[in-house]
Amino acid sequence: MKERNDKRYKKGSKNKKFQVYKPRKKKSAEEDAAIQYLQAQYVKIVSDDVKTFKDFPLSQKTLKGLKENNYIVPTEIQKQAIGYALQGKDILGAAKTGSGKTLAFLIPILENLFCKKWTRLDGVGALVISPTRELAYQIYETLRKVGFLHDFSVGLIIGGQNLKFERKRMDQINILISTPGRLLQHMDENPLFSCHNLQILVLDEADRCLDMGFEATMNAIIENLPPERQTLLFSATQTKSVKDLARLSLSFPTYVAPHEQAETVTPEFLQQSYIICEIHEKIGILWSFIKNHLKQKVLVFMATCKQVKYTYDLFCKLRPGVSLLALYGTLHQEKREKIYNEFCRKSNVVLFATDLASRGLDFPRVNWVIQMDCPEDVDTYIHRAGRTARGVFGKGEGLLMLLPNEEKIIEKLRNKKIPINKIAVDPSKVIAPQKKIEVLLSDHMDLKQTAQRAFVNYLKSVFLMKDKEIFDVKLIDTDAYARSLGLLVPPTVKFLQKYQKKDTNVKKESAEIDGHNVIEKLIEKSETEESDQSASKEEDYEKLLPEPIKTEPQNNIEIPKLDYQNFEVSDNDELLHTKEANVDAPLKDEPQTKKKISKSLTKAAAVKMILKKKIKVNSTVKFTELDEVMEDEQKDFKSDFGLHIAKTKDILQKEDKRDKPCFKEKAKAMQKEKKRKLKTKKKRDVGDKDDFGSLSESDGPDLSWLPDPDKVYGSKGSDNESLSGDNNRDSMQSDDQQCEESEDEQVYHRPSKRKLIESRGIPQEGLVPCKVKKIEDLSSKLSVHEAEMIAISLLKKKP
Ligand code: ADP
Ligand code: MG
Repeated sequence: MKERNDKRYKKGSKNKKFQVYKPRKKKSAEEDAAIQYLQAQYVKIVSDDVKTFKDFPLSQKTLKGLKENNYIVPTEIQKQAIGYALQGKDILGAAKTGSGKTLAFLIPILENLFCKKWTRLDGVGALVISPTRELAYQIYETLRKVGFLHDFSVGLIIGGQNLKFERKRMDQINILISTPGRLLQHMDENPLFSCHNLQILVLDEADRCLDMGFEATMNAIIENLPPERQTLLFSATQTKSVKDLARLSLSFPTYVAPHEQAETVTPEFLQQSYIICEIHEKIGILWSFIKNHLKQKVLVFMATCKQVKYTYDLFCKLRPGVSLLALYGTLHQEKREKIYNEFCRKSNVVLFATDLASRGLDFPRVNWVIQMDCPEDVDTYIHRAGRTARGVFGKGEGLLMLLPNEEKIIEKLRNKKIPINKIAVDPSKVIAPQKKIEVLLSDHMDLKQTAQRAFVNYLKSVFLMKDKEIFDVKLIDTDAYARSLGLLVPPTVKFLQKYQKKDTNVKKESAEIDGHNVIEKLIEKSETEESDQSASKEEDYEKLLPEPIKTEPQNNIEIPKLDYQNFEVSDNDELLHTKEANVDAPLKDEPQTKKKISKSLTKAAAVKMILKKKIKVNSTVKFTELDEVMEDEQKDFKSDFGLHIAKTKDILQKEDKRDKPCFKEKAKAMQKEKKRKLKTKKKRDVGDKDDFGSLSESDGPDLSWLPDPDKVYGSKGSDNESLSGDNNRDSMQSDDQQCEESEDEQVYHRPSKRKLIESRGIPQEGLVPCKVKKIEDLSSKLSVHEAEMIAISLLKKKP
């Protein structure tokens, strides 16, 4: 896009300033008038009357840009969508692949910002979100070509680029084209970036942007956008989900679908066919096809990155006589760009790709699209096939390779108005370079490893497919498939082994229990079940598995789940994320999209665990509320000194029983003695009274001749003597209280009330008797060892 001529602002002299600003003012007035005129025309647009772009009320800059790039006659979607978009309506645009949806949203963006006289200072005015980097780049290039006369700055913000470089320029961008992950990264981390002024939001390949893989990222992005904006959604397989529209605050968008009544949903000049073959025949058929189409541009879709890598590496070594390229998500961004440009430029070339290349990419003049593996669903088929026969009168051919059980997808394709014919392969013309492949693999260890990964990942991809009606990993002849890849020994596929083992185990067990093959029925049931689109892969797996627990009610050990964690998956493998994977999302997003998978447990492992935990089978274990084992569980435990705790306890309890009556008798005797003493004291007092007559407090009898009782009994003797069993208990409670108070004291640094009373010498009922306190202290200071030793010595004394 044309850079603003900044020189005119830098010129210093008054004359020059005058020279610069005078025409600008004039220009500005002209522009204002033109804008007003254009805006007045918007309401008068009738899409059927539009023959060329000139019939739209578009700015001269846009019209010139279109003309320069040979865009004269608008396509159907452009005719219908541009008018509504100029009127400021929200749009839900659905049109066939290659029908020109890109211009249907780029033209309104340019016009909207032009009419608002948008400048760099106004920030981001339009935001276009694309699910892949390549598509974002393609949109950016189209915008640069068509809008080269406008003064807006355009930014392409995609993953794999220099983040710092992007960060510094974010505040100057007017039209931003981005992938969801990178955009959110800037929103989260870049203080310079703000979308508060956003006028138009566009989602290209909207259904993909809004699907599960981007859900969290898109929700976070939408939260950062102002709600009062225009929103345009475009795709060949448009979402009509109310939930999706509500997420974007679209309540009444205008639905523009020019091809809704068309006979086919795929491009008119796209010839589509399919073949049925066995898995091991695929590589030979592909090789033969390439050898037969050396002068053509061919795009081959495969299910996984590893398959693409292996086929590319292998075929490069086999030298078919045509340029080969490979494009997949785990490649470095620079390589991705190089490969994309190379495939666009060349005309005799074969590109092996994953579904990364299936959405939106406008590779020019592609003759053939081969779908080597069955697509995940009908929409994926439409997008893959749509990489050919693009644009006005674009022609192309599509070939779909299916395994016999995958033929069920054909009915689904036809139901969605996709014309596809079955063709047969002439076996005599298929040249499978089997021997060469085997030799190559034996010579190149790395190639062999790639083959092994391709093998495992393909099986995984089939296993993880949602549509169980079409995809069945059990029906794949793994040995034959491995051999076709040049692997004489099929690699170990842990998950498959476990799955099959589990399957047979469960069958056996259920047969033993009730004599019927219940599992067969359960499998059949699970197979015929409609697969839940929203269900996770793990749930799918569980559906597929029979329900073993139900068939063995007395067995409490759960039949383990499949161990996904043991999958030999490299970090780069996009397959585990399947179609929902967001290759552009920042790494920190990964935990949001990844689901935690519970680790599996085999029966042997469960038994080991039980043995390790010393859990006795058929024993009753009682637990307290705090999940602790109750005391009687410790009856068999022995102390470090060999003291049998439970037995010792029993003996002590018996001793207690015997001692209790003795103690009671002693207490009673003490009580009697006390009472007796009191009585004699009273008698003596009465006798004294009688001797000395009535007493007044002021002048009592002179008792100085009597000996000092303190000296005779000790200062605290009377207190201690007065202790009875009950008093003792009270005192202990008081002691506890004192302990608590002393703790408080530590915290608040104030003496306790009790201490204050004591220090003042005021007697208080139930005060802590020091003797008891000492006993308490002693017992609390005893270690377990000392306590045990005492217990042992006590027991030894007993007969
Ligand atoms: P879609 O997004 O619908 O798949 P694109 O926007 O990528 O389609 O356009 C497909 C091809 O059609 C591109 O090569 C584009 O240059 C071309 N095209 C788009 N609009 C026009 C037009 N009005 N006239 C001629 N060619 C067009
Ligand atoms: Mg497109």
